[in-house]
Amino acid sequence: KANIGLLSDIRVALANGAEGVGLYRTEFPYMARKAFPNRHEQYEIYKKILEGFSGNPANIRTLDIGGDKGLPYFEYPKEDNPFMGWRSIRVSLERQNIFREQLSAVLMASIHGKASLMLPMVSGIDEIRQVKEIIGEVCVELVRAGIPFSHDMRLGIMIELPAAVQTAHILIHEVDYFSIGTNDLIQYTMAADRNNPKVKRYYDPFHPAVLHSIKRVADVAGSEQKPVSICGEMASIPIAAILLLGMGITEFSLSAPAIPVIKQAIRKVSLETAREVAAHALSLESASDIAAYLEIVKADLKL
Ligand code: PEP
Ligand code: MG
Repeated sequence: KANIGLLSDIRVALANGAEGVGLYRTEFPYMARKAFPNRHEQYEIYKKILEGFSGNPANIRTLDIGGDKGLPYFEYPKEDNPFMGWRSIRVSLERQNIFREQLSAVLMASIHGKASLMLPMVSGIDEIRQVKEIIGEVCVELVRAGIPFSHDMRLGIMIELPAAVQTAHILIHEVDYFSIGTNDLIQYTMAADRNNPKVKRYYDPFHPAVLHSIKRVADVAGSEQKPVSICGEMASIPIAAILLLGMGITEFSLSAPAIPVIKQAIRKVSLETAREVAAHALSLESASDIAAYLEIVKADLKL
C-alpha cells in the first residue's frame, strides 16, 4: 500500500503498483489551504481518494498537526518541545469542532469505497474510548440528517509512542488494527528528534529497543488475529522490510517509489529465511552487533 498526502499522489501510487492506501496524511490538504476546509470540501477529497483506489482499502488518518507540521491559519502555542507537545490526536480531542467535522466528512465519504479510520499518536485507551464516543455522536447526527455512511468502518491506531507499545495488549481490544509509525516511534523510543542531523546516529531503526518494540506489537496483534502494518519510512529499507516480515508484519505502506523496490526485495527471500534473520537480529545485544549482522545478510541476499 502507499503513503499519500495529496490527490496527485494517487496516480503515482497506482503507477508504482500500490494496492490501496496504508496511510493518508489528511493534514496535507489542510496545509495547502488558507483556512480549514469545510466538511463538504473534505468529503470531496476523501471521496476522490476512495474512488481512485477503486475498492482497495484506504486508511484515512485523522489530523496530525503540531510537531513540525503547522497550519498558518491555526493559532498554535509557542512550545519548547513541539514534538512532545500539543500535537496530533491531542489537538483533535481539544478542538472537537474541527475533529467532528473531519470525522463526519470521512464517514460521509465511506460509502464510496473501503475506508478505515486511523488515529495518530495514541498514548492510551482513554483516548480511543473518547474518540469512539465522539464517532458515535457524529453517526447519530448523520442519521438524523438523513446522510448515508458506512456503518462498519474499521478503526485502527498508529503505534508511535512507547506508551502504546507497552500497553499494546490492552489497546488491541479496542481497535480493529495497528499500524506502526516508526518515524515517530524511533524518535520517541530513542529520544532523538527525527529531523535533527546532530542526533542522526541515535535515530537508529535497528536499535534493539526499536526492534523489540516492533516485535512486541506484532506479537500482540498476531495473538488477537488482528492486522498489523507498518507505515514508517523504515519499511522502505530493503533489509528492514525482510526483518519486519520475519517479525510477522505482512502489510507494508510505503512512499510510492519504494513500492517496487520493496516488492523486489521481498520476492528474493523466503519467509523462512526472513524469520531466521529476524530471530537472530533480535537475539543480539547491541545496535552495533545488529548493524554488522545485517550488513552480512544484505551481502548474502544481495539486497
Ligand atoms: C510515522 O510516524 O511513522 C508516520 C508514518 O507518521 P508521520 O511520518 O506522518 O508522523
Ligand atoms: Mg507519526
